[in-house]
Amino acid sequence: MKVSPANFTPILNAIIPKMVTRRITYRLYPTRQQETQLHWARRMHCCLYNAAVANRKTQYQKFNHSVDYFEQQNSLPEFKEVWDEYKKLGSQTLQATLKRVDFAFKRFFKGLGKYPKFKSSRRYSGWDYPNKQSWRITTNNGVNGYLNLRDLGIILQIRGKARTWGIPKTCTIFWRSNKWYASITVECCPGRQTGIGAIGLDFGSKVAIATSDGELIESPKFLKQSQEKVTQLSKRLRRKRKPEKRKVKASRRWKKCQAQINKVKRKVANQRQDWTHKVAAQMVGGNSLVATEKLNIKGMTRKAKKGSKRKRQKSGLNRNLLDVAIGMLRESIKYKVIEAGGVFLEAPTQQLKPTQRCNNCWELTPKTLADRIHHCSHCAHVEDRDVNAAQVCLTWARGLEQAYARRRVAHPY
Ligand SMILES: [Zn+2]
Repeated sequence: MKVSPANFTPILNAIIPKMVTRRITYRLYPTRQQETQLHWARRMHCCLYNAAVANRKTQYQKFNHSVDYFEQQNSLPEFKEVWDEYKKLGSQTLQATLKRVDFAFKRFFKGLGKYPKFKSSRRYSGWDYPNKQSWRITTNNGVNGYLNLRDLGIILQIRGKARTWGIPKTCTIFWRSNKWYASITVECCPGRQTGIGAIGLDFGSKVAIATSDGELIESPKFLKQSQEKVTQLSKRLRRKRKPEKRKVKASRRWKKCQAQINKVKRKVANQRQDWTHKVAAQMVGGNSLVATEKLNIKGMTRKAKKGSKRKRQKSGLNRNLLDVAIGMLRESIKYKVIEAGGVFLEAPTQQLKPTQRCNNCWELTPKTLADRIHHCSHCAHVEDRDVNAAQVCLTWARGLEQAYARRRVAHPY
């Protein structure tokens, strides 16, 4: 097996403990008066966002002039002279909203997103406090407490729990499904207990994870369970008066039904997140070396080509993959392993071919997607397809580890 020095970087990175940024979300409990203020601020930020988009648009169309972030930032004081209600809001939060516009345009210029749209104040999510001067959190080691927003002059009750608390850095207030939240980033040194085991993982669509120990973790079909309910509710929604551009307002029943749908969808998302973290914690709890293959989720979940016979099959695969949110699972296992001081190794899929290779004799046996069992044509080794792939990844990682140890003996540093 070829081993290049580039493969060692994850091992070296893992040894040095470093400060990392973690995000904690707290639920806010505003009083009725405070809630009015929060909605007011939200609408103000939305208007600023739209104004900034309009400014860029007209300047370019009429005067062929590209406005950048700094030009908008520098014109903020003048803007506040005209629209003096903005004086009540902190300048840094206003700058952060302009940054959002800048971010959207940069994405567009890179070809990553569509041209930034005007946003409806009904749906605009919230605003940021990029520095720690304009807000303050009072909490008992990250568990519950109070949040003081200085520009609005309100102290809010908050609930939530941080795994590891640290130095608070930024705060984002957002409004989602009729509830208020604060997302706070802290700089901390998280600690995590881990075993000395090593494990290979294969993420698939039939089962969520296959481990090298032969364990198959089924994906909970949250979406499937709730899909029926969403379909039913959407049907009801279609019979109600929906909002149309300016002229027709949504009926009260439409709004009510939409809220119900959002609630079910939010629940699915929460369940999925909870499941992901639990499984990831379980994997990392006993193992400090996790090996898997590089995965191209984008390619795997790409839509089937037009007119392709496999469209049904492909969309079924997509549904399954997205249901367990493999990307989310991988990422959370990865950061948890690194947090625990362990190693996360990704095998190069193209060269290693874990699904085809036999863990017993290291020879290749071509397979189709339908072959669920690995039947080695060279040494007659029989194993579950996904388990074998996970074992191959682990064997590959072990080989790397040994080569690394040998290198360290040869060149001690
Ligand atoms: Zn074999």
